[in-house]
Amino acid sequence: MRVILMGAPGAGKGTQAERLVEALKIPHIATGDIFRAAVKEGTELGNKAKSYMDAGKLVPDEIVIGIVKERLMKPDCKQGFLLDGFPRTVSQAEALDENLKDRPIDYAVYIDADFDDLVERISGRRICSKCGKSYHVKFNPPDVRGVCDDDGGDLYQRDDDNEETAKERLEVYNEQTSPLIKYYEDKGLLKRVNGSQDPNGVYKEILNVLGVQEG
Ligand code: ADP
Ligand code: ADP
Repeated sequence: MRVILMGAPGAGKGTQAERLVEALKIPHIATGDIFRAAVKEGTELGNKAKSYMDAGKLVPDEIVIGIVKERLMKPDCKQGFLLDGFPRTVSQAEALDENLKDRPIDYAVYIDADFDDLVERISGRRICSKCGKSYHVKFNPPDVRGVCDDDGGDLYQRDDDNEETAKERLEVYNEQTSPLIKYYEDKGLLKRVNGSQDPNGVYKEILNVLGVQEG
């Protein structure tokens, strides 16, 4: 199954993707995670991406498209994949279509959450410095404050989750990414789910629109 997970920053893409890829046994391709790893490692890609990310802007299309194309060529993508945070512009979506001519996308799942929920989720998000798992101070706190349940890594707040940058990211989303809702609707691929409910409810709705039995 080839799935795109769409939604504004904080909608719950990463949270749902983590569960979905385990259930569907497909790789999770999250461009934001790829960039954060590159920044952490100080690679050339990381150096290029950092200034855009810190400003809440999108990394230029040609950089992102190149990375995703390369990733989709890997053998583990033969049986399908879940794209999280890509595409984010119409140009990226068109490049993806072109790249997947003989194996098109099956579903574009749009997690639709209320604006106030997005802001609250972004501001309370905390990430494990070791494994990247995400928590929320209120909605999904770790067992021990500031420490990852899985590997004991320290939790931190993403640089771009501060109030000012988050506001910019939400604006960029409205301007550049939200047109993709219509793009996939016109192709008959869009599946809308209610993102303003608890994570379990969102997960069930996604499985339902994908036609997958839980269990
Ligand atoms: P995205 O990848 O779309 O930016 P995340 O999955 O990282 O979003 O979720 C943003 C924050 O909101 C995280 O701290 C996460 O724990 C929390 N969260 C995710 N889904 C829900 C939900 N349905 N209800 C409440 N909090 C949620
Ligand atoms: P969120 O969880 O808030 O949706 P991501 O982790 O997906 O955010 O992305 C973080 C940042 O990485 C974005 O603000 C942007 O700078 C960059 N980025 C990620 N994916 C893309 C993409 N497809 N195109 C351009 N920039 C991207």
